[in-house]
Amino acid sequence: MTLSQDRSPSLTTQMQQSVQADSATSQELEIPTDCSIRFAVSLKGLTTWKVGGLAQWYLEPRTLAETQTGLAWARQNDLPITIIGAGSNLLISDRGLPGLVICIRHLRHVNTQFDNETRTITADAGKMVASLAWQAARRGWGGMEWSAGIPGTLGGAVVMNAGAHGHSMQEILVSTDVLNLDGSIETLTNRELEYSYRTSNLQGDSRIVLSAKLELNITGDAEQIKARTFRDLEKRHSKQPYDRPSCGSVFRNPSPQHAAALIEELGLKGYRIGDAEVSTLHANFIINRQDATASDIRELIYYVQSQVKAKYSIELETEVKMLGEF
Ligand SMILES: Cc1cc2nc3c(=O)[nH]c(=O)nc-3n(C[C@H](O)[C@H](O)[C@H](O)COP(=O)(O)OP(=O)(O)OC[C@H]3O[C@@H](n4cnc5c(N)ncnc54)[C@H](O)[C@@H]3O)c2cc1C
Repeated sequence: MTLSQDRSPSLTTQMQQSVQADSATSQELEIPTDCSIRFAVSLKGLTTWKVGGLAQWYLEPRTLAETQTGLAWARQNDLPITIIGAGSNLLISDRGLPGLVICIRHLRHVNTQFDNETRTITADAGKMVASLAWQAARRGWGGMEWSAGIPGTLGGAVVMNAGAHGHSMQEILVSTDVLNLDGSIETLTNRELEYSYRTSNLQGDSRIVLSAKLELNITGDAEQIKARTFRDLEKRHSKQPYDRPSCGSVFRNPSPQHAAALIEELGLKGYRIGDAEVSTLHANFIINRQDATASDIRELIYYVQSQVKAKYSIELETEVKMLGEF
């Protein structure tokens, strides 16, 4: 066992001020030697919005064993656990997150398996979903073209039921292996995830997605599938602000309405709070112009919600997950 590292006084002070340190923050917790848990790690660079405070404790496991050890350690020390993937659908508070943050983006040690017989791809949760889409397209496997511009992990896509252009994960997911809090592994079928629009029953849950099996259409022509994938990607790039930090669509569409149309009709494109701005290109995106804080973005979200409520009597729900205290 070693003591935790990365305890510079400034970080510790910041941590104590911002994360509302409880006893575990300042206490010298022993961490297992085979698990690279770090103290007071900035989460800002780990989200696509580029905002957020410190994780009290942080682990980026590269193996299943390390993930299990980290989980057991957090439980032993009564620490809350937060799972993140590529942070592309998260608003993390400037005050940071207490407990252990486990980031799954490096959990991709097992090679992606393409099985011609079952027409399935099996991949680790840390794989980027867009890279899987391109790998599939190059083989002439169709069914993931829509996901090419989504900057999230496979695990995040499974949990969020990520989707675009009328398609989503629920159409292709066969099953997923999850790690339960007690360290056991379970295989869940598509049906057991109770998928609906951008949700699954894994949301807000403590289970960790380790891998997923997807069923694709393997009888396609590689050139055509690659062309479709490019077309979908270009459509995004022309309509969405990919040049500035964002988290994609902030609000769920209040069916049959579109959140972007409601916000645009209110003239809110370009509206700013601090350095957070409702994108002038796509009204359902909030961009970080440069130095926005999570609080700026949170306030702008509230403002948009209040304006939509006042004008249309519609409660816009966020698609983005907000973590920590605001
Ligand atoms: C430019 C841009 C465009 C986007 N376009 C789309 C789009 O077209 N369609 C769409 O659906 N989304 C889109 N998004 C949002 C986002 O990319 C997706 O929601 C994506 O699936 C999130 O994956 P992630 O790995 O980043 O998850 P995170 O944002 O890190 O986490 C999202 C949620 O999943 C949980 N989670 C993540 N990984 C795991 C895991 N392994 N086990 C258990 N829980 C986990 C987290 O706790 C959190 O609740 C876009 C985002 C951006 C920035």
